[in-house]
Amino acid sequence: MSHPVAEFVEQNLGRLRERIAAACRRAGRTPEEVHLVAVTKSAPVEVVRDLYELGLRDFGESRPQAIWERRPLLPQDVRWHMIGHWQTNKVRRTLPLIETAHSIDRRPLAEAVSAEALRCGRRLPVMLEVKLAADERKHGFSPDELREQFLAILDLTGLQVVGLMTMAPWTSNVEECRGVFRGLRLLRDELRDAVATRARLEFLSMGMSNDFETAIEEGATHVRIGGLLFEGLEARSA
Ligand SMILES: *Cc1c(COP(=O)(O)O)cnc(C)c1O
Repeated sequence: MSHPVAEFVEQNLGRLRERIAAACRRAGRTPEEVHLVAVTKSAPVEVVRDLYELGLRDFGESRPQAIWERRPLLPQDVRWHMIGHWQTNKVRRTLPLIETAHSIDRRPLAEAVSAEALRCGRRLPVMLEVKLAADERKHGFSPDELREQFLAILDLTGLQVVGLMTMAPWTSNVEECRGVFRGLRLLRDELRDAVATRARLEFLSMGMSNDFETAIEEGATHVRIGGLLFEGLEARSA
């Protein structure tokens, strides 16, 4: 832990944890309720290893290929979270490598992941991605689609549906993000009430570098953070 990059990532992580704790205090929550998923995308694998040495175990990638490549390079107790759009033809190779998927964004994917999980003798904890902001680039169920399809998805026995996930719109307007996060929480509450004991739906995966504090105030249990952890990295390693 003596090379300069590690120290610098340690500072970023320390600052991030302070901000998470402060947002929790404002919301009357405890930091233990909020899981940090480090989104490692463009970060070099050595820096991911630094984060591991600093105690992080939950890492997220938005491309399956990145998980295929990185899993063998990191300790086996890393918990990989699949958080991005996922083609069904990549499910078979990815499934044995991951702990969970946040980005189940359509029914055929839910079916493919369930079938593959059963083939591997698993029941995969997953979150369903909801598209709450009109944005062509985003994936996910619309709230109405999810209301219609939710019971059928719960019938997929290879899945354990543990929560919902969303991405806020690309905006610097905090209140617009807040509306999306609150919308996800209300939809979660509604679905949870509708299915009673069939699914616990306890998790809300929402909040990234730009909006995680607002997401925590609105009930996020998983924040997916990349940029802030690696801020300044390029300048430092150049
Ligand atoms: C990249 C990404 C993140 C992390 O975003 P940052 O702004 O770098 O914190 C979170 N979730 C998803 C789905 C992503 O693709």
